[in-house]
Amino acid sequence: MNEGLHYEIEQMEAYAKEHNVPIMEKESLAYLLTFLDRHHIKSVLEVGTAIGYSAIQMALAIPGLTITTIERDEERYLEAIKNIKKCHLEDRITLVFSDALETHIEGTFDLIFLDAAKAQNIHFFERFENNLNPHGFYVTDNIEFHGMVAQNESDIESRNVRGIVRKIKEYLNYLEEKKDYHTEFISVGDGLAISEKL
Ligand code: SAH
Ligand code: MG
Repeated sequence: MNEGLHYEIEQMEAYAKEHNVPIMEKESLAYLLTFLDRHHIKSVLEVGTAIGYSAIQMALAIPGLTITTIERDEERYLEAIKNIKKCHLEDRITLVFSDALETHIEGTFDLIFLDAAKAQNIHFFERFENNLNPHGFYVTDNIEFHGMVAQNESDIESRNVRGIVRKIKEYLNYLEEKKDYHTEFISVGDGLAISEKL
């Protein structure tokens, strides 16, 4: 990666920190990038763009990779447009400004990356199944939710957080029981689930 791109990435990381944007953790990002390479992934549908950080990292790591990515928050969407332009990736990253629970996406993808509202993952999974290529993958981020998924529910003070944790557990059971996919849970970063369509 050249110096200019390095600078842009660092700026995005600083912006995310300052504005509390939950971008992917370094370790899980590295894992994902290696995974894309190893499985010769050519196209990705991402649910949850935020400011474009993970989409840009994927595009920079994998030459020729194309990404369609959905974001419902206007401020973040506008920030993502700026960042993608600065990195000259407009031709490989397509931004969709809408609610992923309502939008219809054309085309099919080798991998679908779920990184939006943590309580809605079953809905996202089912909504985009027709957009997944045969033998494609779903990758879901934040399945450990800062260690809280492994924690005793009664130790979690916030009712709201308890609700999210319960939803994540439901999603993990859902993946485990899904017979047409094989899912592996990887304890890296904030936890990744990798589900391969059989
Ligand atoms: N993938 C990004 C981080 C995404 S953070 C990265 O690692 O760089 C999660 C984002 O999902 C937030 O910006 C939030 O606004 C968005 N989001 C949550 N629910 C959504 C929905 N239903 N449709 C579209 N975007 C959603
Ligand atoms: Mg995430």
